Amino acid sequence: MKQDKISILKQYLPEQSAPIIAAWIDDYACEFKISKTRNTKLGDYRPPFRGSHHRISVNYNLNPYAFLITTVHEFAHLVAWNAHQNRIKPHGTEWKNTFKKMMLPFFELDIFPLDVKKAVVSYLQNPAASSCADKDLYKTLKRYDAPKEDVLHVEDVLENQHFTLPNGREFKKLNKIRTRFRCLEVKTGRMYLFNPLAEVKLVS
Ligand SMILES: [Zn+2]
Repeated sequence: MKQDKISILKQYLPEQSAPIIAAWIDDYACEFKISKTRNTKLGDYRPPFRGSHHRISVNYNLNPYAFLITTVHEFAHLVAWNAHQNRIKPHGTEWKNTFKKMMLPFFELDIFPLDVKKAVVSYLQNPAASSCADKDLYKTLKRYDAPKEDVLHVEDVLENQHFTLPNGREFKKLNKIRTRFRCLEVKTGRMYLFNPLAEVKLVS
């Protein structure tokens, strides 16, 4: 069902782009898979073989912008393959022109933040850019990865900074006494001693 496809894709892609990608999957009769992490590849395209479908897979843990750009990258391989089969280089002129054209609808929807847009444009203009994972482009995309766990240890909190425990109690970190830290509970004004490795969250 197309609607199901769109709602699944929305979990991975910028929302407005999901209907377009869902339509591509149907129009190009592509077997589209969201796959578990592979460290070496962000995505993958396999041309049809002995009557099978085109196959594309994209890593599930990319941030939405990286997921979209990787998806368009792989679809550009599909479209270029339909037009030229094996007669072209994987990231040659034909692929690049196809990729450029296929990025247009997303530029028109104004989906990308400015720095990502600039990085994509310069990626497309750079004739040397040829890999599936252009360094500059993906360095920019990395900025949009969700921050890793915001839990840290009391020893990492700066003096006088406030932090909370999982139960919500708020403290202010003071000085170290031997192996533990003195912390003042904000609400009660009481002093406590904390193990340096206690897991806490910073109060922003
Ligand atoms: Zn590629």
